[in-house]
Amino acid sequence: MTGTPTRTTPLRGRRVLISGAGVAGPALALRLLHHGADVTVVEAAPELRGGGFAVDFRGPVHLGVLERMGVLEELRALRTGGSAMRCVDADGREVFTLPAEFTGGELEVLRRDLSRVLHERTAGRAEYVFGDTVTYLAETPHGMHVDFARSPSRTVDLVVGADGLHSGTRAVAFGEEARFVRHLGHCLAGWSLPNDGGWTRTSEQFNVPGRMVSAAADRATQAGRACSSCSARRRSPTTGTTRMRTGPWSRRRSTGCRGAPRNCSPRWTARGTSTSTRSAASRCPGGPVGGSPCSATPPGG
Ligand SMILES: Cc1cc2nc3c(=O)[nH]c(=O)nc-3n(C[C@H](O)[C@H](O)[C@H](O)COP(=O)(O)OP(=O)(O)OC[C@H]3O[C@@H](n4cnc5c(N)ncnc54)[C@H](O)[C@@H]3O)c2cc1C
Repeated sequence: MTGTPTRTTPLRGRRVLISGAGVAGPALALRLLHHGADVTVVEAAPELRGGGFAVDFRGPVHLGVLERMGVLEELRALRTGGSAMRCVDADGREVFTLPAEFTGGELEVLRRDLSRVLHERTAGRAEYVFGDTVTYLAETPHGMHVDFARSPSRTVDLVVGADGLHSGTRAVAFGEEARFVRHLGHCLAGWSLPNDGGWTRTSEQFNVPGRMVSAAADRATQAGRACSSCSARRRSPTTGTTRMRTGPWSRRRSTGCRGAPRNCSPRWTARGTSTSTRSAASRCPGGPVGGSPCSATPPGG
């Protein structure tokens, strides 16, 4: 232990290792740095992950937290302004359109911007190690002994798993994921695709009980962005994956990525442009995790 804790920096000298540089990891790093901790963030991906759609903030609690974190004004400057959502039938005919004010919340930013802002606020003061993971944890009289896949071992005072829905740190500390996750029978996938559908910022969504597919243009690149969800209570006994059947609309509109939404594996794909997950409830404290960001958030962000 180094340094003496004070009232303003009660964590001075405390060594904290955070696994995961998504949203929670850099956000926690910001608070811990504020209180004087020595923070290291280890991230499995080779660089900050830029995927995802939009994240909405609504009401005084959300905005108050952002203000106290000191990022509210910077995020306001990055606000998307929301995007309308056009709901269509299986033949692509408009059923109704939800206005941008309804889908976007009071403040809507792209997930990649939120993650980047939090990373930039902490990068000079916290150590970020990309392309590495925690492989072993053991409590010792001197703190937590941590082994990594690539970096030398180290001892820290606290290890925090902020590595997402399928946390590798949770698996290392407590055992394999299957012991802690209860699948609720819903799948979600998001991916990039050529914009051969002429999509705009207004997302086009086909949504019937049990399945949904949605597409829009990325506001920065104009490339296609799509997401799909389904209720799928059955999983393949051989592959452990669930097939998404999103119907005729998606087959006609998603010609550039045929097959991409069909395999709903929870693993991050090697291309790095798509994410997929199953919504699940965890038995860990905090209750349900996961969900369907696309139900309220058009992929154009
Ligand atoms: C690329 C991406 C895009 C998403 N887009 C949206 C969205 O648009 N809207 C929405 O509401 N939700 C989205 N999500 C869902 C997401 O779970 C939450 O919105 C939010 O990002 C959760 O923040 P988090 O920091 O807890 O986890 P995440 O954002 O999932 O971050 C976890 C981080 O940990 C890293 N990681 C994973 N395993 C390990 C390991 N073993 N060791 C070290 N690092 C590891 C991952 O690469 C990732 O960077 C997205 C998730 C991801 C990963």
